[in-house]
Amino acid sequence: MISDSYDVIVAGGGTAGIPAAIAAARNGAKALIIEENGHLGGTAVMGVPFLGAFDGNGKQVACGLFQEIVQRLIDENGSIGHVHGARWANGREFVLTPFDSEIFKYAAQEMVLESGAEILLHSFITGVSMDGNRVTGVDITSKSGTKHINAKAIIDCTGDADIASLCGAETLKKTHVQNSSILFTLNGVDTQRLEKALEKGENINGWGSWHTRTVEARKLDSGSQSYVHIAGHFTPFGNDKEVTFTAVSGRDGEVYLNASRITGIDGTDSESLTHGEIEERRNIHALVQGLRENVPGFEHAYVSKTSELGIRESRTIIGDYFLTGEDTFGGKDFPDSIARGAYPSDIHDPKGGRTQFIFIKGGGSYGIPYRCLLPKEIEGLLVAGRTISAAQDANGTVRLQSTVICQGQAAGTAAALAVKNRTTPRLVNINTLRNTLTSQGACI
Ligand SMILES: Cc1cc2nc3c(=O)[nH]c(=O)nc-3n(C[C@H](O)[C@H](O)[C@H](O)COP(=O)(O)OP(=O)(O)OC[C@H]3O[C@@H](n4cnc5c(N)ncnc54)[C@H](O)[C@@H]3O)c2cc1C
Repeated sequence: MISDSYDVIVAGGGTAGIPAAIAAARNGAKALIIEENGHLGGTAVMGVPFLGAFDGNGKQVACGLFQEIVQRLIDENGSIGHVHGARWANGREFVLTPFDSEIFKYAAQEMVLESGAEILLHSFITGVSMDGNRVTGVDITSKSGTKHINAKAIIDCTGDADIASLCGAETLKKTHVQNSSILFTLNGVDTQRLEKALEKGENINGWGSWHTRTVEARKLDSGSQSYVHIAGHFTPFGNDKEVTFTAVSGRDGEVYLNASRITGIDGTDSESLTHGEIEERRNIHALVQGLRENVPGFEHAYVSKTSELGIRESRTIIGDYFLTGEDTFGGKDFPDSIARGAYPSDIHDPKGGRTQFIFIKGGGSYGIPYRCLLPKEIEGLLVAGRTISAAQDANGTVRLQSTVICQGQAAGTAAALAVKNRTTPRLVNINTLRNTLTSQGACI
């Protein structure tokens, strides 16, 4: 039975929210995670692999809870683990960790419950209570009506900074946000035929060059050695607009595709989201027909799953520190770093064209300051995920899943320390936080 009061409320049960709740509970807090959907996972269950866990020199920078989640997925036959051996065009190492998004939903809920945190699904947070500038609780709306739940600390993991915005925190909404995509899974793909066609550079009937990087590894279940990731560009329907795609294959015959895009969607506006969902579903319908007609291996493919519209960016908080592109590309470190990012900044053209990558200096990593998780002038609130305080070019790298999971672990740990020491997240001793994170496996 959900109670009226918790030490820590985690708003949003997605990529950052899951580790935030686990870390808060493991560090002694009575924690509740509140999620609008009927399952945990958020954007992490769209069907994309974990990226950004290793730097360009092959060093692991996302550790701790992230590694535990990967191990749990491996144990549940939901991942083959980290796949090494591929390279970017500039020679830097490219490591990906593919996983089964349905098994992730299960593993995540079990890990949260095992930590002692509670879960409330089908509940949308629509309001907050404040004592001056300190947030003290949230209002939720669900089939049961409305309910207020108090908390000593709240972690905003909504992906849209909903809670920060409800608190009146300063947020930034860019005029040109990165494009949005529905991801889809195809089954019935002859993945070996597809791979052979790409290897031979077979003509893809005007659908452009399909093959910039192919990564091979063992498949789940069959154990066959074949491609798990292909990334490239193609020009569907003879348009002049080339699109970037990635195809991930975890099992024989199955391909997760990230190949369609829509521009100009506001992830905080339901009418805009509705427009995006409708248009992207049309795009995917046409794309699948085109794949079946033009691309070897896809002749008998059928859609087995589609995600909701994936929002790459919406609101960003303005925190005690605003992370810049120069900080991330320059591989900067900070005395209050609580997580590390390493993936090149991955900017999906707001106008819909090719994805641009900006690499980290020397193939290294950068630190994420704790201050980026603290919305200016609001107490009792932490933010983790794609909405932390960062400029658009920095956001292109801090939003990657492994990096977001590490932010979540840091936020959950900080919230629990704040409650334990009867203080606010802003006044948590940074050395204690960093030592706690390190002792719990995090790479900071
Ligand atoms: C199309 C696309 C492709 C991507 N590809 C990759 C990739 O290949 N590899 C990679 O590592 N990263 C990739 N990313 C980036 C990464 O997946 C996201 O940036 C990251 O998962 C975001 O995590 P988050 O916790 O901030 O948000 P989310 O994971 O989206 O979590 C937010 C959660 O909060 C819930 N919520 C929102 N508002 C409320 C509310 N008011 N009340 C209750 N619940 C609420 C949502 O339902 C959701 O579950 C991709 C992103 C997109 C959109």
